[in-house]
Amino acid sequence: MVTVDPKAGPKYIYRFTEGNAQMRELLGGKGANLAEMTNMGLHVPPGFTVTTEACMAYLASGKWPEGLEEDVEQHLRALESEMGKRLGEADDPLLVSVRSGAKFSMPGMMDTVLNLGLNDESVQGLAKQSGGDMRFALDSYRRFVQMFGKIVMDVPSETFEIKLDEYKKRKGQGAQDTDLDSADLEALLRDFRTIYREHVGVEFPQEPREQLRLAVEAVFKSWNGRRARDYRRQNKISDDLGTAVNVVAMVFGNRGMDSGTGVAFTRDPATGERISYGDYLPNAQGEDVVAGIRNTLRLQELADLDPKSYGELRQAMDTLERHYGDMCDIEFTIEKGKLWILQTRVGKRTAFAEWVIAYDMLEEGLVNEDEALLRVDANRLEQLFKPVIKAEVKASARSIAKGLNASPGAAVGRVVFSADEAEEQGQRGEPVILVRRETTPDDYHGMIRSQGILTSAGGTNSHAAVVARGEGIPAVCGADGIKIDLPSRSFSANGTTVGDGEFVTIDGFDGAVYVGRLELEESKLERARRGDESARKERIWKAFERFMGHADSARRLRVRANADTPEQARNARERGAEGIGLCRTEHMFLGEERVAAVRQMIFASTREEEEEAYAQLLPLQRDDFVGIFRAMDGLPVTVRLLDPPLHEFLPDLTSLAVEVALGKERGKDVSEQERVLTKVRELHEANPMLGLRGVRLGIVKVGLYAMQVRAILEAACLVQKEGGDPKVEIMIPLVATREELRQMREELEPVAREILNSEGVKLSHLEWGTMIEVPRAAVTAREIAEVAEFFSFGTNDLTQMGFGFSRDDIGKFLSMYEQRRLLPANPFVTIDRPGVGRLMRMASEEGRGANKELHLGICGEHGGDPASVAFCHEIGLDYVSCSPFRVETARLAAAQAALADATTSKRDV
Ligand code: ADP
Ligand code: MG
Ligand code: MG
Repeated sequence: MVTVDPKAGPKYIYRFTEGNAQMRELLGGKGANLAEMTNMGLHVPPGFTVTTEACMAYLASGKWPEGLEEDVEQHLRALESEMGKRLGEADDPLLVSVRSGAKFSMPGMMDTVLNLGLNDESVQGLAKQSGGDMRFALDSYRRFVQMFGKIVMDVPSETFEIKLDEYKKRKGQGAQDTDLDSADLEALLRDFRTIYREHVGVEFPQEPREQLRLAVEAVFKSWNGRRARDYRRQNKISDDLGTAVNVVAMVFGNRGMDSGTGVAFTRDPATGERISYGDYLPNAQGEDVVAGIRNTLRLQELADLDPKSYGELRQAMDTLERHYGDMCDIEFTIEKGKLWILQTRVGKRTAFAEWVIAYDMLEEGLVNEDEALLRVDANRLEQLFKPVIKAEVKASARSIAKGLNASPGAAVGRVVFSADEAEEQGQRGEPVILVRRETTPDDYHGMIRSQGILTSAGGTNSHAAVVARGEGIPAVCGADGIKIDLPSRSFSANGTTVGDGEFVTIDGFDGAVYVGRLELEESKLERARRGDESARKERIWKAFERFMGHADSARRLRVRANADTPEQARNARERGAEGIGLCRTEHMFLGEERVAAVRQMIFASTREEEEEAYAQLLPLQRDDFVGIFRAMDGLPVTVRLLDPPLHEFLPDLTSLAVEVALGKERGKDVSEQERVLTKVRELHEANPMLGLRGVRLGIVKVGLYAMQVRAILEAACLVQKEGGDPKVEIMIPLVATREELRQMREELEPVAREILNSEGVKLSHLEWGTMIEVPRAAVTAREIAEVAEFFSFGTNDLTQMGFGFSRDDIGKFLSMYEQRRLLPANPFVTIDRPGVGRLMRMASEEGRGANKELHLGICGEHGGDPASVAFCHEIGLDYVSCSPFRVETARLAAAQAALADATTSKRDV
């Protein structure tokens, strides 16, 4: 909204005394916080902020909006009279900085121009102001020409840097910028102005108001710079926000050794420790402190150097932290022993520090329990459990390739190129990294034996990435700098060749790939979770325990896990799962001892043959279920009957055809292979995703689901008789019509009843339901709910079918789609609210409308995505179900969703 002054049109400029921290949208984060600090009485140089609305108006019309020029002039005059100086005046000049600052701090926005207002005359005035320090004045002037040229006029920055280096070199080995004297600087300045003229085509502007106009305009334009646009797209920031421009009276850290510039954090942003943390550089200006031009001092060293300023700074830090109720980062400058605060914001921190700080602040009484819980990022929680590369090691290591950070954690292992080798070596206890172009379901057995997975193609939702996250295995995907050469059993990247069996290290936190074994460090939290006493004394563990406890009492949604095996079920339960929301039974048809029976089932030409096969599978599957029911004793387990098409259990068509052809050529007996081949051909589908699978398979393959139901019920009876309390939910996949579900239940319920009767067992909980994963089911949920006791939203398929996108192929066009904003976000990561989400909302409401008792859950990957969990909370589901490794994430996200309704965080400054 544009604030309109009835006489003068929109108010495009605010003095620092007029703004506050809440006005980030209009004044940008930097401007809003400068205003806030000014009004808190902190020592901030005076200035004003040109609003983001002025920026958007400029960008819309390509020229300065009506009245802005006069406004700038008016505010400049006010600043001049406050300072008692005039911009760029020869005798006693006012100098300013021009600083961009949008609502969210982002890279790619225009860098700050310091010392604006200097010209050939005012440089003399600056020298006079500083007691005749001509060297200081010239140094400031050359910095200004350099910054203005580079930042405002796009002169390549190296041209200036090379020239500066020449001058430094002339002063001798290892000379620094501070070694240049006035005469050097005067000559350097002449050279800089020549560089400027050559690149820009005109002389360096001497008129200060012209300098200011050009700088402000350049800030406006930088909003649409390439890097800024890319960053916004990546981070889902709107293009319509615009950036503000801050014009701030200059203070000087480069006036000698009693001056300097620094950055400070009120707590350590890496560990969260309550210590003042930061860097200080004496006799320096602005970015020098982070630019690495000279070695900086640790902030504590300022205490000896200038105890008075240090004391003031500590006080300002405390004031800010208390005021914002959070860890702040601060930019400051000391000019001749006088401290100035130039910027503050809530500081960025690691996932680890985030928990420690929130916990400490809760203990210190700075925030309450709800606020503390809202301070930690559910999306980053999983990181805390993963091993990391030791910080010192990481700092000095050079990566050979970079991919997507597909699954968090660092891993070290020997390179293998096939899933079979991974499995074989993994089983021997050898650490391996499976390196593939992409992975397929056929690689699963090797993937789960690997320490890490590295692919050269595929995105963050490729098969490799999804499996890795689901299994908690670190992964780097789509590292396209890696060229795999299978014949030579090696890959190359950036000029380095890595062979089979050589060690590599991958970092799933940032996608980096290294040659060799980098030293890893186990997560403290993981150690504590496993019961390590010393790790349990750490604050991170105390924070985790306390916050998760609070989360469990604050959330409404239950959290279950997707778990297919007893081991996964136990893992999930340890992490707080309250049941299994999806137990897939596919793996129960795999494995050597089962293959023969499964084939017999598929090949059977008579009911008897088929029944025989079922009789072989039944006891094996029953044992599988017994393990799962024991692990989840007392908690509900949703078992999904077989879902994938049958040919997935047969060998690959092409390789089999080749085998048969070759065998025949060599005169071998391949009749068995031929038999299989015929069947594979028969079962081959043009579009298996939409073919004979799910409930359709259950209907066609009479006896298949009955066998599974029998195995489930027999297992449940057995566990019950042991004294356990199995809670069984049988889920029929891919239902599209009410009749499908009704008829299946009609067929299967008698099977269950018969077993319960003959075993003489009563289960405390036995429900029949379906996945809602095809759009038609969502649309006809009212009818389906009449014959279902529960719905579980299978949002992977619902998204695939809702959009008509194949999840396995979306990688090929997703980035283009995001670039052109054809999609707001990857719908396989976060539920697409207006489309798929609407189907869910409708199905929930109508389903419950028809059947008040209907239980509702979600079992797609989205169940572990915090934004999707919030949506599930909103539409009133009973539970979310996710990968065991994301159970804690979901518990936290569910609590945050519940609290978000009630509490507004102070975080947003
Ligand atoms: P960024 O957003 O990149 O941090 P800033 O606008 O904060 O950019 O400015 C860059 C550097 O210049 C910072 O070190 C800042 O403290 C310093 N700086 C900005 N304005 C002034 C000023 N008026 N006087 C002295 N130093 C300043
Ligand atoms: Mg800054
Ligand atoms: Mg499905």
